[in-house]
Amino acid sequence: MPARTGKQFLDRLRHNPPNLYIDGAAVTDPTTHPATKNIAHSLAGLYDMQLAPEFKDKLTYEDGGQRYAMSFKVPRTKDDLRQIGEAHRIRADYSLGTLGRAPDYMNTNVMAAGMASAYFDECESSGAIGSGRNFAENMRNYYDYVRENDLCLTHSLTNPQVNRSKQASEMPDPYIAMGIVRETEEGVIVRGARMLATLPIADEILIFPSTVIKENGDKSRYAMGFGLPTNTPGLYFQCREPFDLGRDTEDHPLSSRFDEQDAFVIFDDVLVPWERVFLMYDMTLANQAYSKTDAVLQMAYQVVNQKIAKTGAFLGLAQSIVQTVGSGQFQHVQQKVSEIIVTLEVMKALQVAAVEGAALNQYGVMTPARGPLDAARNYYPAIYPRLNEIIQLLGASGIIMMPSKADREGPLGAFIDKHLQAANATAEERLKLFRLAWDMTLSSFGARQNLYEKHFFGDPIRMASALYEVYDKEPFVERIQAFLNQDVPNQAVPQPVSADD
Ligand SMILES: Cc1cc2nc3c(=O)[nH]c(=O)nc-3n(C[C@H](O)[C@H](O)[C@H](O)COP(=O)(O)OP(=O)(O)OC[C@H]3O[C@@H](n4cnc5c(N)ncnc54)[C@H](O)[C@@H]3O)c2cc1C
Repeated sequence: MPARTGKQFLDRLRHNPPNLYIDGAAVTDPTTHPATKNIAHSLAGLYDMQLAPEFKDKLTYEDGGQRYAMSFKVPRTKDDLRQIGEAHRIRADYSLGTLGRAPDYMNTNVMAAGMASAYFDECESSGAIGSGRNFAENMRNYYDYVRENDLCLTHSLTNPQVNRSKQASEMPDPYIAMGIVRETEEGVIVRGARMLATLPIADEILIFPSTVIKENGDKSRYAMGFGLPTNTPGLYFQCREPFDLGRDTEDHPLSSRFDEQDAFVIFDDVLVPWERVFLMYDMTLANQAYSKTDAVLQMAYQVVNQKIAKTGAFLGLAQSIVQTVGSGQFQHVQQKVSEIIVTLEVMKALQVAAVEGAALNQYGVMTPARGPLDAARNYYPAIYPRLNEIIQLLGASGIIMMPSKADREGPLGAFIDKHLQAANATAEERLKLFRLAWDMTLSSFGARQNLYEKHFFGDPIRMASALYEVYDKEPFVERIQAFLNQDVPNQAVPQPVSADD
């Protein structure tokens, strides 16, 4: 069943509901539960989109007579990367870039890890586990399985935020963070919790470590990589409070459609079957799993494309506000819109640079250049609050004084139509636009977007440190040394110019 339809996605979700908990109760059917049904149907829309005649050639590719989602495609050339990037942007446009965990993101992760499956064999050769565990084959099979079934994944990478001054093993209970309890014939038993799975209505969860594990000893119980169905017994997703309040899409244009949810993940002695284990015990391998497989770069490439779509949405939103209220002649307004244009062009340039600098990695995968992608993922979290602020500065009170659709249709409707009209829009048109601006930047949904952009790829402070560590700064230091040490002949002392000259 490659390249699913929306109906196939919903059917699977209905018959295999993840173990979700919201507001103290289990969600038995995410396709009808008030907090998840709209996001489920929005995701279904994304699946339908890939097979719609106008998008099919851009959003899917053919392989062995079957069509697969473009985000599973293994890029072999720079043109492949361009094609994949265009698909990422088209898909991101669907939610104005607000759907962080559109399936594309994790698909690229599984693709890159599947292609780099040899990396996972090193666990056996390093002696971390007994022989006969073919983790490389498991990883490769997992890619094939996810691609063949066009599955949707979530992931959770970090340990609970209980005490950041201690390692997981130094906590009062060593299973606050998820760790290995024991091995059995069937697989590995894991216990504890992981943060933070965006889109818990996914079909599968992928567990890889992202933050460096620093435990003593060479066999850490916290070093694990595996994939599981989200309805696995003993696996629970405790969701945050929903932002989809069941309001009309005109009133809540984003939160009523794209509240992808976030959950913390509880492993209550969960069995991970051996065929689903990709690595274990080996801290070095675990810590480098993203970088050495280049999965991080394929994911960052999806992200830069998604952020281009999102920044384009900010530009469209800002300019629509300006045109609607007729503020475009003020220089400071033009300057603010120009700031968004600069951000958009910087992101586009980084995307192009990532493709132009791409090279085949040791696994034969065309891998976008690291420098521009690292720049993008450090730059965007820093600039994003400013994009929010610009929308709020341009929209001002219009972003809060927004009677609802019901108000407009109620007894004061005529006053609303008169006083809340705009230079270039009816009250209805204006309110729809400002509601979008509010949901993008100010509602609970918008505030969560702000936090998401700061943190979803990791702690911005540690990301900056990582960039500092890996970036080759030495040529630039040498350049300064060479400049300072150059043998410059003494400059001739300028002679005063006489009036006769
Ligand atoms: C909306 C949202 C969605 C998310 N979705 C996902 C997801 O789908 N999958 C996923 O795996 N994760 C997800 N995350 C989690 C994300 O990976 C983490 O937020 C991020 O890695 C930071 O970890 P933390 O939140 O535990 O913060 P902490 O690590 O607890 O950091 C808290 C503060 O302490 C500082 N600090 C802590 N430790 C150190 C250190 N060693 N060195 C320097 N400073 C330190 C940090 O700089 C920060 O200021 C999401 C986060 C958000 C907000």
